[in-house]
Formats: sequence, C-alpha cells, structure tokens
Amino acid sequence: QAKSRGGNNTVYFSRDMNEETLRKVEMEAQLRKAIVKNELYIVYQPIIEVPNESLIGCEALLRWQHEETGLISPAEFIPLAEEIGLIQEVGKWVLIGACKQLKEWQDERLGDFYVSVNVSAIQFQHPAFLSDVKEALRVSGLPPEYLCLELTETIMLNDASYSIQVMEALSELGVRLAIDDFGTGYSSLSYLKLLPLDILKIDRSFVRNMNDHSPDVAIVQSVSMMGRGLKLKVVAEGVETPRQLELLKQLGCDYAQGFLIEKPMASCMMYDFLRKHKVLALQEH
Ligand code: C2E
Ligand code: MG
Ligand code: MG
Ligand code: MG
Repeated sequence: QAKSRGGNNTVYFSRDMNEETLRKVEMEAQLRKAIVKNELYIVYQPIIEVPNESLIGCEALLRWQHEETGLISPAEFIPLAEEIGLIQEVGKWVLIGACKQLKEWQDERLGDFYVSVNVSAIQFQHPAFLSDVKEALRVSGLPPEYLCLELTETIMLNDASYSIQVMEALSELGVRLAIDDFGTGYSSLSYLKLLPLDILKIDRSFVRNMNDHSPDVAIVQSVSMMGRGLKLKVVAEGVETPRQLELLKQLGCDYAQGFLIEKPMASCMMYDFLRKHKVLALQEH
C-alpha cells in the first residue's frame, strides 16, 4: 500500500505496487498541482433546440493538459479527484470559471443561453457545495437562471433526503437542475416527480443506437413524452448523425448536443462560434 504523507511530500512504495497504482500515485501528486500550474481548462459544447436549431445552452467540460502525458480525460481524473479529496476544490474552480465565462459572453451580448456544469456525487454531498454555488454566482455576477447543474442519479443512492434538501435549496436560489446520463443509473420515477428538476439528459448510449425500429427509439420517445408531462426539458446527448437529429425532431425531443452540432471547444473557439452566430442572426432579421 502506498502512503502519501501530506506534510513532507514523501511517498513510500511497496515492492509489489503495480504500474497502475504507481501511475495513480504520480497522477495524484500532479493533480494537486494542476490548478496552480494552470493545467486545467474548461471547454464548452453547444446545446441546441431541436426544432429550430438555435443555441439554448452549452455544457462546460473539464480538461487537464498534463505537461508530459498530454491531455488526460475527465473520465480518468475526476474519479481520482474524488478519491483523494480534491473534487470539491476542482469542482468549485469549474463552477467559478464557467459562470465567469458565460457572464463575459453575456456582457458582450453574444447570446442568451445557459451554461451547464457537471457535479459529481461526492462534490454534491460535500457540506460546502451549496455555498460554493452561491459564491460562483456572486463573484461572477451571473444571474442564477443561467446556471444549470448536471447531477447524476447516484446522488440519490446514499442519504436521499439530504440530497433532496440540497436540490431544493439550489432550486430556490434559481439555478436549474439536470439529471445527466439519464436512464443508465438508478432511475426511480418516484424521485423524478419529487425532485425540483428542469432538465433530463438522455444518455448517449440510447441516442447512439437509434435506428428506426430499435428499442432505443421507443425509449427516447417515451422519455421525451414523460419530460413534457413533467414539464422538464429533455436533452439528447451524443448526437452524431443527421439521421439521429431528424429522428429526435420526429420524437419530440427538446434539445440536442453532440459532435454533429459542435465538438466541445476551448473558450476562444466558442467565442468565435458565438460571434459567427450573432452575425448570422443579425443577417436573418
Ligand atoms: P458527460 O457529462 O455525460 O459529458 C458528455 C461527454 O460526451 C463529454 O465527454 C463530451 O465530450 C462527450 N460527447 C459530446 N458529444 C459527443 C458525441 O457526439 N459523441 C461522443 N462519442 N461523445 C460526445 P468528456 O468531456 O470526455 O467528459 C466525460 C465525462 O467526465 C462527462 O460526461 C462528465 O461525467 C465528466 N466530467 C467532465 N467535466 C467534468 C467536470 O467539470 N466535473 C465533473 N464532476 N465531471 C466532469
Ligand atoms: Mg454532463
Ligand atoms: Mg452526460
Ligand atoms: Mg453521458
């Protein structure tokens, strides 16, 4: 077992430590420094309204550009950040960064859309989470309705009543709440009617396999209908083909996000994208 002694930065290895563990120990130490070394940055992926394809929001996605390894996927380092107790700090950094960025675009009149920030279950359950959200809104000056928090179904797994309490407090603040990767985790319809939700994001796995007669079409259609009944907006994730977008239109899905529309972009690229859209919108009027 490796023991990382916080005080003197000494790391002890045992002989049988495998490469995987070694890599993790190294990544751990480096992730702790990544924020101050400016190795973390946020990319933004547009979310559009399905019927008219206008921009309705964007998702903030975290990136880690490691000096030696290169780009490391959030799927790899977010769980690590959770494990080593860094997720609250990293998550707060993303919240503040995303809110400030959108406020900047708003101040330049670059559009009227929300930013969606991913929140891990452990981050959500941290006692400081609610105050972190408030602080992000305060320091950025972003109106709360322009911030959406993407939660996963796993937040209901332990201490559901605490989670509901936090969600209600967030909802009272005026931020929007989304369930991410909907349909892949612990979905309970009884929670759906209880929770102060605004958005459901249908997981990419359902969208990917949508062919005309696949069960996934029925699933996407049913979730879209349920969304309408519960007054929730439904986002399809991972839209990659024109055929998928066409099907979503027919099935009544509200919003879409995916490589077909745009890949996640660094903020300077997103800025260009917004400028281009603004010019096009002005020309149409
Ligand atoms: P997610 O929240 O479900 O984000 C959607 C993922 O799908 C993103 O991967 C995005 O780049 C990818 N994606 C979007 N459109 C398409 C498409 O058309 N096809 C395919 N194949 N993929 C598409 P990414 O950026 O690698 O993020 C992976 C996961 O890491 C996210 O899944 C989210 O759970 C987590 N994550 C990312 N940023 C953060 C963060 O700031 N905080 C937390 N807690 N988690 C984050
Ligand atoms: Mg997400
Ligand atoms: Mg998702
Ligand atoms: Mg997903």
